[in-house]
Amino acid sequence: MTEVQLQEFKLDPDSELRFEVESKNEKVVLEIKSGYAELFGTELVKGKPYEFHTGAKVAVFTWHGCTVELRGRTEVSYVAKETPMVVYLNVHAALEQQRVSAEQECARGPVVMVVGPGDVGKSTLTRILLNYAVRMGRRPIYVDLDVGQGHISVPGTIGALLVERPASIEEGFSQQAPLVYHFGHSSPGENLELYNTIVSRLAEVIAERCDNNKKASTSGVIINTCGWIKGAGYKVLTHAAQAFEVDVILVLDNERLYNELKRDMPKFVKVVYLPKSGGVVERSSTQRAETRDARIREYFYGKRTPYYPHSFDVKFTDLKIYKVGAPSLPDSCMPLGMRAADALTKLVQVWASPALQHRLLAVSFAAAPDDDVLHTNLAGFVCVTAVDPERQTLTILSPQPRPLPSTVLLLSDLQYMDNH
Ligand code: ATP
Repeated sequence: MTEVQLQEFKLDPDSELRFEVESKNEKVVLEIKSGYAELFGTELVKGKPYEFHTGAKVAVFTWHGCTVELRGRTEVSYVAKETPMVVYLNVHAALEQQRVSAEQECARGPVVMVVGPGDVGKSTLTRILLNYAVRMGRRPIYVDLDVGQGHISVPGTIGALLVERPASIEEGFSQQAPLVYHFGHSSPGENLELYNTIVSRLAEVIAERCDNNKKASTSGVIINTCGWIKGAGYKVLTHAAQAFEVDVILVLDNERLYNELKRDMPKFVKVVYLPKSGGVVERSSTQRAETRDARIREYFYGKRTPYYPHSFDVKFTDLKIYKVGAPSLPDSCMPLGMRAADALTKLVQVWASPALQHRLLAVSFAAAPDDDVLHTNLAGFVCVTAVDPERQTLTILSPQPRPLPSTVLLLSDLQYMDNH
């Protein structure tokens, strides 16, 4: 039997309480007893209980001092006095100045890209800067290019959100009307051609939206990226910087990357080196896979607010399923005027087979394969939970009741075992 542990921490100004919830089915409840504190940039309400579950790695930071109570079993919990929060706040202040000038000059606000190796706190810094901006009354655009984690929508996608209120402590940023594009793999290296194509497309659409939304335009964009920074990974980053026409690149904890970007970026791009927080927790590949799985489960079943997805059978012949990328041939074997790389962004029809079981299918807004499918954003996702080769049917887990829209479905490499 687990006894409920009660811990109380008194935090001095400029310090943070870090804790992790590791054991399975464990729940930790956090409450601010006195003073003021924030969690990755979102203010915590005094006296309100917040729940954290298995896998949570959390920091409660205070600018003014506070008392925090934790109920439940934590794997680790300690107070750290050394944090880079003042540096991050200065970055926010500099971005805020750029927003003020943008407003006065009717220009575009800062477009910021956060880069660095894996596990340095890129997603966390993105969240903090977005939260600070929205708390100042701004409406920044949050872009996530990290296909490995998929903070917006599910892993295997890139996307963008207009941030209108601070992230909820337990559920993150509100996912209303995100703009999402299909990639279908958990690393850009699986299909660089496709990755760069959709990054350019997302950048184009955001530029158009900013033209029509002055508030968002002056508030700017904050872009989170993948932790792949060497070789082709570096080229992917510089391509994204160019596509989004970034003004500021924040490099977390990697001097080599900082120097390379300083060397290669045009002079008007400010490349800034930032320390990582000592609290950022390294994750093993198993933990990453578990986080990916949890993201997909949340998509179908919700996190704090439960969702009730539908399950139904569909005839395979009623579906238009495609995967992106045909096997590529050497350039010498290609028809005149075509590059071998073009094959990587071709749609290939997928036939019924047991290999579809557990796979995610992206529901495109494109009605037919000859519509510009890759450049069209997604309506959502379904998951194939069973394949019946005899009846030629698939059992589908879907957020919407039947029927499935008669649009193009794109096969993802990502799998989800529905044992809810
Ligand atoms: P990746 O490249 O894998 O996406 P990342 O660089 O974006 O990683 P984050 O996801 O921001 O890193 O952070 C890794 C983990 O560390 C997260 O679970 C986050 O909640 C936790 N974390 C970040 N900052 C702190 C902190 N100051 N104290 C405790 N935990 C933290």
